[in-house]
Amino acid sequence: MLIRGGTVIGEDGERRCDVRVGADGRVAEVAPGLLPAADEPVHEAAGKFVIPGGVDPHTHMQLPVGAVRVSDDFASGTRAAAIGGTTTIIDYITPERDEDPLAAAARWRDLAELSAVDWGLHLSFTAAVPEAVIATAAEAGITSFKLYLAYPDRLQVDDGAVVNLMRSARRQGALVTLHCENGAAIEELRREALAAGRTAVIEHARTRPALLEAEAVARAAVLAELTGAAIYIVHVSSADALAALRAAVARGVDVQAETCPQYLYLDETRLQGADAANFVCTPPLREARHAEALWEGLARGWIQTVATDHCPFFRADRRAGVNGRATGFRDFSEIPGGLPGVETRLALMWEGVRAKKISAVDWVRLCAGAPARAFGLWPTKGSLAVGADADLVVWDPQRRQALEADDLDMAVDHSPYAGMVATGWPELVTSRGRVVARDGRFVGEPGWGRFLARAPLSR
Ligand code: MN
Repeated sequence: MLIRGGTVIGEDGERRCDVRVGADGRVAEVAPGLLPAADEPVHEAAGKFVIPGGVDPHTHMQLPVGAVRVSDDFASGTRAAAIGGTTTIIDYITPERDEDPLAAAARWRDLAELSAVDWGLHLSFTAAVPEAVIATAAEAGITSFKLYLAYPDRLQVDDGAVVNLMRSARRQGALVTLHCENGAAIEELRREALAAGRTAVIEHARTRPALLEAEAVARAAVLAELTGAAIYIVHVSSADALAALRAAVARGVDVQAETCPQYLYLDETRLQGADAANFVCTPPLREARHAEALWEGLARGWIQTVATDHCPFFRADRRAGVNGRATGFRDFSEIPGGLPGVETRLALMWEGVRAKKISAVDWVRLCAGAPARAFGLWPTKGSLAVGADADLVVWDPQRRQALEADDLDMAVDHSPYAGMVATGWPELVTSRGRVVARDGRFVGEPGWGRFLARAPLSR
């Protein structure tokens, strides 16, 4: 296929170029003035941008959370991803406490086989493990791991386990991702709130203040400095956490960070009112001032990637809560946390380009190139270099897309961005050369996606 007349946006800038997709599903040529071969399909892209398919390094498809479950499975979630221009996801294997992590990994691999776009996996640990577990996972192409410094009942690991796992990861060339909030302090604030009868949804934010995110980022960075591990902080949500991150970078700690569109577009006022429960995510939505700091962090390269933390729940499941109560959740701490987002990331970040908060080149770097590099997929993914997988998006900067739940394709019955209309949406999306979305409609198939065995870090 020849994509002709568009403007290619790469990390080195924008240029008018044609792109030829080879029969092997790879980028064959990128140059001006390419002529179609006999019978070669041509997609006219004048006035459009051509970019590498999005790489979303943080999703949770069909994750069970207590009595409820994330509403997208790998088939529906990756279908929505494709429509929105994301052609690679990396999902988090999340074992139950005391579950064998490698058994959980095998379970996730089976579930993810239904993916419509290519996929990789990160593995979360809820306790220290023998280094052989990390070596086995890395050998299988799972080269990044996650540790939670929050959720003491289900997921949190203590600092000793963090040190142990960081040392093993470093020796195995693996990256350690961290959820940074101080879980023990948050648990105490939660107990105090409930004891005082403060059960409303807004207490979710008040019991998880930015200060406790910043503390955990700083602590994670200290432990990385101690152990020499490379770390990556997921979903940075506050100016305080960003300041802690910058202080660590200034000391030479090998730390990267992501943020998510919800922290750029939504604030804690959403946690009041009738729909408040639909906006519970963790870290919580913050006061509006934090978003400006995060946008600056993206533009200046202090935050390397934009992921989604895609983790949708049906409204009925949010109401029932993680304890599955027919009468509805009893307090804020029973609401399953997480928002839909895998379909809308590129469009929301393009709005940032339109508002001149980031450049178009930043947009491509944050949503595709940098996550591919961080997680060992570059340049096969996140790049339109000759030989890269022909995962590409023809982006129509004029196409308007309402962000109501009914107008989107994620399997969920509410939208955090209801009322917004995005200007800019994919008109064509390919995965290894196959068209998977056209004019906003999915034309791929479940199971087309392949597991991406990722390489260890080169450091
Ligand atoms: Mn997450």
